[in-house]
Amino acid sequence: MATYFVSDLHLKQDQPQITAGFLKFLGETCSGADAVYVLGDLFEYWIGDDAASMLGVGPVLDAMRVRAEQTPCYFIAGNRDFLVRDEFSKASGFKILMDETVVDLYGTPTLLLHGDSLCTDDIAHQEFREQMVTNDQWCDMFLSQPIPQRIEMADMARKQSNQHKTQVSMTIMDVNEQAVLDAFSKYDVNNMIHGHTHRQQVHTYQVDGTTKTRTVLGDWGQTDSHLKVDQATAELSNTSLV
Ligand code: MN
Repeated sequence: MATYFVSDLHLKQDQPQITAGFLKFLGETCSGADAVYVLGDLFEYWIGDDAASMLGVGPVLDAMRVRAEQTPCYFIAGNRDFLVRDEFSKASGFKILMDETVVDLYGTPTLLLHGDSLCTDDIAHQEFREQMVTNDQWCDMFLSQPIPQRIEMADMARKQSNQHKTQVSMTIMDVNEQAVLDAFSKYDVNNMIHGHTHRQQVHTYQVDGTTKTRTVLGDWGQTDSHLKVDQATAELSNTSLV
C-alpha cells in the first residue's frame, strides 16, 4: 500500500494527454492506494465552482469522485486554482486541506504545501498572494462577478503572469532557502512535499545533526511527475504521457 502525490498538472483543453494521464493515474496507479494528495495547480485556472462545466472538467471531476469513493483523497489549492470551494470538493470527493498542512505519513510528520509561499524572493507573486489568493474579500468579490467577466479577468491575470515569468530570473522564482528552513522549524517537521516551481527534485538539508528532506514534484507535460511513498520508501518518478 502506498500514498501518492501529484501537483501542477495545469489541466487545460489543448493538452488532452495530460487529462488522459490523470484519469489513468487515478484509475490505475492509485488503485488500492492508502491516500492520494493533489498539491495544487491541478487546473490551469479555476474561476469558481459554478463555472466548472464551462472548463470542460466534468470527466476529471467524475474520475476524481470514483477514486475518492475508494480512497481517501485530499486537495491543496495552488495559485491557479485557489478559488476551489465546497462544490468542487463535493463534485470531486477530494477533501480540501489548508495550504501548509502537516500530515502523518507512515509515522513521519510531513508538511504539505503548494510551495509558492516559500518563493519569498518573488515580490510580485507574494503581492498577488496577499491581495488576491489569501484575501477572502477579494475572492468573494471575484466570485460574485458574472462568469464571462471572471474569464476575462483570469485571462488578463494569466497574461500578466506569463509576462512576469519572462521578466524575473529563475532564481527569484525558486524557493528561498531561508523560507524553507523557517517552514521546517515553524511546523517542527523534518519532511516536506510541495510543487509549484516545477523543479522535480529531492533536496536534503542538515540542520543541527538532523537530516531534513524537501521533495519537489514536477509539472505534467510529456510525462507525469508523481511521488509514491510507502512504509519504507519514497520514489519520485515520471511516466510518459505520449
Ligand atoms: Mn503554482
